Amino acid sequence: MADIIQLLPDHVANQIAAGEVVQRPASVVKELLENAIDAEATTIKLIIKDAGKTLIQVIDNGKGMSTTDARLSFERHATSKIKTADDLFHLNTKGFRGEALASIAAIAHVELKTRQEQVEIGTSICIEGSHMVSQEVVVTPIGTSVSVKNLFFNIPARRNFLKSDTVELRHVIDEFHRVALAHPKVHFLLYNNGSETFNLPVSNYRQRIVNIFGSKTNEKLVPVEEETEVIKISGFVGKPEFAKKTRGEQYFFVNNRFIRSAYLNHAILSAFEGLIKTGTHPSYFLNLTVDPQTIDINIHPTKTEIKFDDEHTLYAILRSAVKHSLGQFNISPVLDFERDSNLDTPYNYSKSTVRAPKIEIDRNYNPFQDSESFKRQTSSFNKRPSDSWDSLYVGLDSKNITPQGNSDMKFEGEASDGSLFESNEQVNMTYQLHNKYIISAIKSGMLVIDQYRAHQRVLYEDFLQNMTVKEAVSQQLLFALELHFSSQEIEIIKQLKEDLEHTGFVFSKIANESVEITGVPLNVPESEVSIILEQLINDVQHEVPNSNFSAIDLLAKSMAKSLAIKTGQILKKDEQEYIVNRLFACKEPNISPANRLIFITVGVDELDKKFI
Ligand code: ADP
Ligand code: MG
Repeated sequence: MADIIQLLPDHVANQIAAGEVVQRPASVVKELLENAIDAEATTIKLIIKDAGKTLIQVIDNGKGMSTTDARLSFERHATSKIKTADDLFHLNTKGFRGEALASIAAIAHVELKTRQEQVEIGTSICIEGSHMVSQEVVVTPIGTSVSVKNLFFNIPARRNFLKSDTVELRHVIDEFHRVALAHPKVHFLLYNNGSETFNLPVSNYRQRIVNIFGSKTNEKLVPVEEETEVIKISGFVGKPEFAKKTRGEQYFFVNNRFIRSAYLNHAILSAFEGLIKTGTHPSYFLNLTVDPQTIDINIHPTKTEIKFDDEHTLYAILRSAVKHSLGQFNISPVLDFERDSNLDTPYNYSKSTVRAPKIEIDRNYNPFQDSESFKRQTSSFNKRPSDSWDSLYVGLDSKNITPQGNSDMKFEGEASDGSLFESNEQVNMTYQLHNKYIISAIKSGMLVIDQYRAHQRVLYEDFLQNMTVKEAVSQQLLFALELHFSSQEIEIIKQLKEDLEHTGFVFSKIANESVEITGVPLNVPESEVSIILEQLINDVQHEVPNSNFSAIDLLAKSMAKSLAIKTGQILKKDEQEYIVNRLFACKEPNISPANRLIFITVGVDELDKKFI
């Protein structure tokens, strides 16, 4: 038998390795920015075209490479950063695997220009899909410039898998933010499609945060400082009242490296307990400094997870440090005369109106009345809303449904001995269970409807209708509402402006970091506007690609999600009935806009079986 095992050619091995390192343009951005940081650059410029699909270029003024190193840098496992396995435990560089440049060069057109300080002339190297195209001497500034063009040109499947420019750009900017936040002493610039999107001068940490997230951020930050033997914590948390519905600005850095940690995130959440509404997320920008020997960052090639030796201790220290800072902050507002008086009311009560207790009496109730005439009364009541109720039977899957129009529709109360209790049940028709489900009687048994999903469906179809026929009713605000956003968030609002206007929004001004709104869709409370827009921006940024995606659809879904009555909300009888009736007037009452089941039916026959 012939031998069949072969070593893979380098370019094939590189392409396979690239799959691990480079998932999307943002992965390239991360690697190149980190290389520039490792090269001790003080100014780093990132240039992006078409969300990185056409061009990603990073120019730094770092220490550059010699001609030999420039060439070697594209070899797999070629690194200047570690020499022995032991070095892995004393890492103070971002890179160490020596895989990034080799991987990137395997799946793109790469041009490297680099020069060291002590030499006059630099080196330029062009590589396309691991094949060296040219190597020349060039005149170039001190430092390194790497341009990566036509990412995934030789892996069409990967290229097609990329998401929309909005989404890819979002990921690119996220990476840029992470590196820029970890290194405030480095000047960063970002040019997107020819225009300067960020120019972040050397500054302190607080200014860096403000330069990235907008001037309004400044007043939201509470400093956190703590130093113990095992960890040093410094940075900021957002004040509780600015907690967001969406997880936005949450950053942990460990030894200047961005990491994710659900566990440490939980430590922060627990420090905020009681201060923020459930379902909202505080922002934080925290730098943790630990002995490099106590962490293992080697567990994932993209390196955002990390293993700590003593997580429990870190958890406790982090939680108490944040709590302490929030405590200090809570004392100071007493002296703050500009404080918004709304903050003094507990969240749950600030919006609700006071309702006087009510006693309801049934004036027609006559204990001596015979049961026959009582039955007549209730059954005529039952037939009143028949129009809308008819629709309930459409499409319901049950063998026992009587044909439509059959006038001797029977209710349980009538069929049995007509006791008062059962009749009352009939009059009310719907019942709310655990402030979550609406139970509604139908011919074959009952419907159990998820109130949140049902209302989302109703609102979604309404919004969609309004936007497509472009005749939404707008409600004029008494005072223009000014809302603050970061510059990228404003870009998204600009893109969606026209569709938003078709739902009833009126924008009187869109500035660099704020919008002014003078009209909102009918029935949208003013207090919800910022939450709706925030949710919407978040949804756009995390859009999941699917064939029927459209901005209008996303907008309608997002607004429906924000505005629908939530699980946990007590509904009055007429509200329950409204939702049920409107739901079954929808085109697709069965599934929510997010493709979830809205209701189930429980047949009398199923119930009967249980009572055998
Ligand atoms: P790693 O960063 O893990 O070492 P890379 O493939 O990213 O691996 O880079 C390989 C080597 O190329 C680095 O170790 C470094 O010596 C050199 N290099 C890469 N980018 C730069 C840069 N911007 N400036 C100077 N040297 C660089
Ligand atoms: Mg690297």
